[in-house]
Amino acid sequence: MKRRSRVLSLKRSLQVQTENGPVMGRYLIAADGAKGPMAKWLGFQDRKRRIAGALEAEALTEIDRPDTLHLELGLVKNGYLWNFPKADGYSIGIGAFQGGGNQNLRAIATEYAKLFGVEFSSIRQQGHPICAWDGNQRLHTQQAVLAGEAACVVDPLTAEGIRPSMFSGLKASEAINEALSGDLNALSRYSEVMAEEWGAEMQWAARIAKLFYRLPKVGYRVGVHQPAATRRVGQILSGQIGYRDVANTALNRLSQGLLGN
Ligand SMILES: Cc1cc2nc3c(=O)[nH]c(=O)nc-3n(C[C@H](O)[C@H](O)[C@H](O)COP(=O)(O)OP(=O)(O)OC[C@H]3O[C@@H](n4cnc5c(N)ncnc54)[C@H](O)[C@@H]3O)c2cc1C
Repeated sequence: MKRRSRVLSLKRSLQVQTENGPVMGRYLIAADGAKGPMAKWLGFQDRKRRIAGALEAEALTEIDRPDTLHLELGLVKNGYLWNFPKADGYSIGIGAFQGGGNQNLRAIATEYAKLFGVEFSSIRQQGHPICAWDGNQRLHTQQAVLAGEAACVVDPLTAEGIRPSMFSGLKASEAINEALSGDLNALSRYSEVMAEEWGAEMQWAARIAKLFYRLPKVGYRVGVHQPAATRRVGQILSGQIGYRDVANTALNRLSQGLLGN
């Protein structure tokens, strides 16, 4: 297996300059995440994306309930806090989409971590941007495609990014395979497939998110607090059902909750 090396630049001919020398290819999948430079190098100047900020820390500690993950809604505007149990401690973090105003995410996370006996300020924290879906868009050039967070696939409601990134990676590899077999439309079809299969779902997620984050108390009452709704979210995250299966009910409940608030 080739040693992983940092990509330093990209030439028009799809020659990638790495720390360990140049690499040439006929096609390229840019999957260098939210912070990677590849999309810009390929000419995608203004991708549609909803940026969120996340701050995360790993606390090495004894954990109380290894089978329980915690999500907290309400302490942070336009986002949530999480505490995921791991084998050797907790992953505690906070994420918020733009539009929540000036919030001190570190201070909020510090208060939250105390609930689990963790002193947030004493452990290494890492800040990350998250590129959430904010509309369908072109994800291909003549010889390259964007995949994963570089393609802004993250769910704007849950901030789930791993599954959609893997999905887009798979679709990208299929498109490149077809292109290598001579199909001239394979890369443009990748953009279409992403819009049809992921974007269609994300349109619903974005609509629900808009209402859900507007008044988290209502979201909590009609969503999080209802066992059936929580179960549905689990089914969505595991791919058993899609947003389109629950969107009308969710949007109706949220709208009624907003009106009655
Ligand atoms: C704090 C935090 C918590 C999260 N929690 C969850 C979660 O619980 N569940 C979930 O589904 N999603 C979660 N996400 C989102 C999820 O992690 C991402 O959406 C997903 O990892 C994106 O995958 P990716 O492969 O596109 O990018 P990445 O996982 O970011 O991988 C990109 C890779 O490209 C490399 N790279 C960048 N530039 C270069 C270069 N110039 N040369 C070579 N390599 C380069 C990077 O080093 C990195 O390894 C979380 C995100 C954050 C920030």
